[in-house]
Amino acid sequence: MKSSLEDTLLAAIRTIPDYPKPGILFRDITTLLGNARAFRRAIDELVHPYAGQKIDKIAGIEARGFILGGAVAHQLSAGFVPIRKKGKLPYETVRVAYSLEYGLDEMEMHKDGVAPGEKVILVDDLIATGGTAEAAIRLLRQIGADILAACFVIDLPDLGGRAKLEALDVPVRTLIGFE
Ligand code: AMP
Repeated sequence: MKSSLEDTLLAAIRTIPDYPKPGILFRDITTLLGNARAFRRAIDELVHPYAGQKIDKIAGIEARGFILGGAVAHQLSAGFVPIRKKGKLPYETVRVAYSLEYGLDEMEMHKDGVAPGEKVILVDDLIATGGTAEAAIRLLRQIGADILAACFVIDLPDLGGRAKLEALDVPVRTLIGFE
């Protein structure tokens, strides 16, 4: 019998308690990536609302967003642009500061990674508070991207990330949630 998408994905994601610190339930997608059927179903589900649309770029957030975003870009015949922690990209960049639980960090992308007006979908593995994706949206908008949606495999709905992005007028798409 064919199991539901939700069951397939839930079964393929490994939860590591107290990683990277006590009290955090880390949702590890490496087991999903290593499961050919679950990986394909996740990518198919992420892309299907956009099939046939002209999408210029997929922007993936370091590091798991690179893997998912690369596969999504291939399926949609779009380009891929990496959004990275500061200091990792070799060419000229645009940069944003964003707050973490303790202090500030910065993320950046190449200033020519997206041309003004290009249609972009943002991809990462998981949305929690939405702070990381919000910073990526600010970065993309600095260089004039037209952000069509932000897509994640996993939502942690109790942490309110979806509302944060929707307040920025970015539609949010997630495949499964963990309370
Ligand atoms: P946030 O900025 O709070 O939405 O956090 C999202 C980013 O942190 C994503 O890049 C996730 O990969 C990572 N992240 C946050 N919480 C978790 C978690 N419980 N398990 C796995 N990754 C997480």
